[in-house]
Parts: sequence; C-alpha cells; structure tokens
Amino acid sequence: MKKLIIGIVFISIILMACSNQWRKDDAKPGNTDAHKKQGTNNNHKKKIKNGVTFIDDILIVNKKIPLPSDYNPGVDKSARTALTKLLNDGNKKGLKLTITSGFRSYQRQQTLFNNYVKKDGEKAANKYSAKPGSSEHQSGLSFDIGSTKTPQVNFNTDFVKTKAGKWLKAHAHEYGFIIRYPKGKETITGYQYEPWHIRYVGKKHAKAIYESHLTLEEYLGL
Ligand SMILES: [Zn+2]
Repeated sequence: MKKLIIGIVFISIILMACSNQWRKDDAKPGNTDAHKKQGTNNNHKKKIKNGVTFIDDILIVNKKIPLPSDYNPGVDKSARTALTKLLNDGNKKGLKLTITSGFRSYQRQQTLFNNYVKKDGEKAANKYSAKPGSSEHQSGLSFDIGSTKTPQVNFNTDFVKTKAGKWLKAHAHEYGFIIRYPKGKETITGYQYEPWHIRYVGKKHAKAIYESHLTLEEYLGL
C-alpha cells in the first residue's frame, strides 16, 4: 500500500513537471504557427550514424553540426538524377544553367578555407565560406548553380535577378531541392544569402519547406 501511494505521488510530480514544460515551450516567441504544425522539437527523431547527424532521416550539416573528416560519399545518386532533370528542364527554356560547384571533400574544403583565411582573414572567410566539416558540399547533396549567360553574377546575390536565378528560386523544389541559405535567415543558417546554393532533400520535404518559407534548421526543429 505504501509503495502504491509513493508511486502515485511520483507519477503526479512527473505529470505536473511535464505540463509546466509544455506551457513554457508554447510561450517561446520562436514557436511560430508553422513550427507548431510540424510538431514541437520533441517530435523530431535525431540519429547519429558514424558521426553524421540525421533528423527525421534528413542529413543535417551546418556550423554547429559538422560532418566527420572521413565522411567522403561523393555526389549522391538521387541528387545527381534530380539535378540532371532540373538542368535539362531549365536549359530547354534557354537558361544555360551550369554547375559551378558540386561535391567537395573535407580535404578540398580545408585547402579552400585556408586560402580564404590567408586572403581575407578568418572572420571574413567564415562569413562566405565554411570551415572544413561544416560545408554542405561535403554531403554530396548540394550544388551551386550559375548560368553561362550571366557568368558575372555567378556566386553573387544578383544571380537571383537573372532569369536563371528566378527560375531556380521558383522551381527547384519541384525537383527535390531547396534554396538552402535564404535571404534574412543568416542568423539561423549561419550563412549569408546564397541564391545559387541548392540542397537535395527530396520532393516531399522540398515542397513543404518551399511553401512554409522555413529554413532547413527550422523545418527540423533545431
Ligand atoms: Zn554552395
């Protein structure tokens, strides 16, 4: 009998603590409606496989969640197939799309980053480049897209003003890609606006992210 009473009291305390936590989370200003629709942070499933982080089975890499130095998958097959379709369709419209950067190994990123640091200093380099391990290009799921019609704005935010840039912004999700570093979300993604950098997440997620205007971080409840 004594054990039963202790048990009931214990469960009650846990339930009270949980409901308090729930109210606190709800009151957070960052908890937007769009966020609630996909559930609170607790509903996302996080898995770490050989040092690579997946949330809801989507690989995530950013400045806070790097990839291990030995993760060297090359270009993802599904991403490559989807990209070929995207390029073909865009080029049927005369956009002259081109891949300006694709898969980059940890070692390649290390060389690039070190060169940028030498040139502009670490603080500046950090803003436009990624430290080895935190570049999405190491995942094999990301590509930089430009146009041979307007090479002067490749890797430039003015790319979004070109026909190619506008088309990419409006249609990438139809092929399973998202514009990974949107405008005005620098504090969330950790990267400046990059209208040329696309990331493969599959059609279902790409559509949801496109329609919700969320970053991948927000979409995954980070
Ligand atoms: Zn990129």
